[in-house]
Amino acid sequence: MAVTTQVPDLVTPTWDYAPAPEARTLATIEASYDLFIGGDFVAPIDGRRFTTVDPSTGEPLAEVAEAGAADVDKAVRAARRAFIRWSKLPGAERGKYLFRIARLLQERSRELAVLESIDNGKPIRETRDVDLPLVAAHFFHHAGWADKLAWAGYGPDPQPLGVAGQIIPWNFPLLMLAWKIAPALACGNTVVLKPAETTPLTALAFADICRQAELPAGVVNIVTGAGETGRALVEHPGVDKVAFTGSTEVGRSIQRALAGTGKRLTLELGGKAANVIFDDAPVDQAIEGIVNGIFFNQGHVCCAGSRLLVQESVHDAVVARLKRRLRTLRLGDPLDKNTDIGAINSAEQLDRITALVDAGQAEGAVMWQPECRLPERGWWHAPTVFTGVAQSHRIAREEIFGPVVSVLTFRTPSEAVAKANNTPYGLSAGVWTEKGSRILWMAQRLRAGVVWANTFNRFDPASPFGGYKESGFGREGGRHGLAAYLRTGADA
Ligand code: NAD
Repeated sequence: MAVTTQVPDLVTPTWDYAPAPEARTLATIEASYDLFIGGDFVAPIDGRRFTTVDPSTGEPLAEVAEAGAADVDKAVRAARRAFIRWSKLPGAERGKYLFRIARLLQERSRELAVLESIDNGKPIRETRDVDLPLVAAHFFHHAGWADKLAWAGYGPDPQPLGVAGQIIPWNFPLLMLAWKIAPALACGNTVVLKPAETTPLTALAFADICRQAELPAGVVNIVTGAGETGRALVEHPGVDKVAFTGSTEVGRSIQRALAGTGKRLTLELGGKAANVIFDDAPVDQAIEGIVNGIFFNQGHVCCAGSRLLVQESVHDAVVARLKRRLRTLRLGDPLDKNTDIGAINSAEQLDRITALVDAGQAEGAVMWQPECRLPERGWWHAPTVFTGVAQSHRIAREEIFGPVVSVLTFRTPSEAVAKANNTPYGLSAGVWTEKGSRILWMAQRLRAGVVWANTFNRFDPASPFGGYKESGFGREGGRHGLAAYLRTGADA
């Protein structure tokens, strides 16, 4: 088919929307939170606490307990005691608890969406329409597996591992919790979970849901804190399996710490995904896919399409349309239902993004941002497009984890594959073309755990997610995700 490289009319419609704020009062935020251990909220032994803040204003939200090694020990012991009965429950009984949790998550989804937006800074449109429905779906999905493990393809009698120590990042706080806790519980394990220090509130609300569901005490324990708390959990001898989602750097240190211990480990780490646009791609859909790929959740997405590979013949047209689309994005109050781009989660993350954006300019790439007024308080970054990017530039190699896309070009499918794979990461990739055969050809060659075709950032609990190379190992979701929480075959 003939390809048009003509740049379309670039007049951007502009109109104002009236504010449409979701009610902040839907979520109750306590002044102070304790640790959730053995079915109760308990104060940290040495009394240390830290503050979690609202990234859209920088204002403190609550004081949260900082678990020390003695608290982590208490939580692991509680999980171990609970394991004795939980692991013996028939799968159908465990499934009932998971179904109950899933339904409570649905019932409380408005409250949880508001709480997540306040603590994380992400738009309510996303927490309401993406995070919360997926969180509930993960519990429903795994509730269904709990009594069918013998038919999952892992032998007739797969066994739980024991106590899982789970550590999650701040970009999808409740969703990452669901990815970790739902399969662990379905398989008969008990857990000690540590949420990220900047986003602990929805995990603590989840603790309350566990109580509401009358989940047996100690099956789920939540210890809040930062890296030291995480390290204490990883190194605790009573932990049988560590599941970590976070940066490649911390993942490496965890792998080193666990070497030789016999503990099982899965690592879900960083990414630098290529989103590949061929000249026969449905351009309007592709533009939406590019926007969703890198500007969803402020680009705080491990599998974000942060390297945009555009076939040279359509580069100008795609970039022009992308800029036009970006002019219509609304940045601001995360609780406003019209907001597309919320706040950056922390001052540290904003510093990291800014440093890499500065490096992009210093190395000679061309930066573009739409006209966009940033709020005066809190942490914000305008959507940013870099063109003229070379593969050697830091913005093409390093994970920015912010609303910044680096545009590169290619001429042939082979060149697209070579450039897409030219990264130490291997988490995800996207392909936009009308040719089914080309999609399959690309998918076979892209070294990425997930390859999306004519879509991007699609998640489903039935579909395994995970990486190659420095993006980690192990899968979460689907039948494959169960294996990470089961002793199977010879090691059962
Ligand atoms: P991070 O590695 O700094 O922190 C992640 C978690 O690990 C936090 O809870 C933190 O407190 C804890 N932690 C820090 N140091 C630790 C230590 N020494 N031992 C044990 N725990 C420790 O990452 P982040 O900045 O919170 O998250 C962003 C990173 O997460 C990005 O690189 C992103 O790509 C990655 N991520 C990956 C996936 C995936 O599924 N592959 C999903 C989401 C985020």
